[in-house]
Amino acid sequence: MAEFKNLTYNNSKNMLNLILFGAPGAGKGTQAKKISEKFHLLHLSTGDILRKAVANKTELGIIAKEYLDRGNLLPDDIMIKMVENTIKKNTDVQGFIFDGFPRTIAQAEAFDKMLVTLNMAINCVIHLRVEKDILVDRLLKRAEIEGRSDDADKSIIENRITLYKQKTKPVKEYYSKLEKLTVIDGLGEIDDIFEQVDAVLSEKL
Ligand code: AMP
Repeated sequence: MAEFKNLTYNNSKNMLNLILFGAPGAGKGTQAKKISEKFHLLHLSTGDILRKAVANKTELGIIAKEYLDRGNLLPDDIMIKMVENTIKKNTDVQGFIFDGFPRTIAQAEAFDKMLVTLNMAINCVIHLRVEKDILVDRLLKRAEIEGRSDDADKSIIENRITLYKQKTKPVKEYYSKLEKLTVIDGLGEIDDIFEQVDAVLSEKL
């Protein structure tokens, strides 16, 4: 562990790269924050990058706004490029927590190819599993606290959860076949969930 922390590296042997997988409202952002503090990994949330772009009215933000407002997924090619650019801008990190990416099989396949060219690999995929009724409740509460427009409207939430089932759930199978998947119950106390996440990650070091 100590050795790991002191390394500066950019190849798959020394990096810890994790995909945090789960439906909207599963608690990925909350856990990612704790993981990044303990393991010194960069939290790469595609949703956060897009929301920032929308707020700053960048070229990407102007395109992204329509998708975010409706709870739709952005085109795969835009997302893949965005993730690649972000990885390339952060060469001195000890690893990444990918949160919200990949969200389709096409993204997962392109991501694998990209990682090979970057001499990187995914060490593990953690699925935070939470049932649907609880997700909707959590998202409505988050709307009150954070003011996210895509959390405020029940029909937009339903759309995001439907898209998750249709497009994103197959990604779980994809990583399960590659024997990278660990499922953790996303219900319960934040610290108890983190303890389980911590145990999975500590094994990879
Ligand atoms: P999130 O914060 O991860 O729930 O993402 C918020 C919104 O950003 C999603 O509802 C999509 O509109 C968009 N988004 C984030 N990540 C992706 C992705 N990997 N592919 C397509 N759209 C995405």
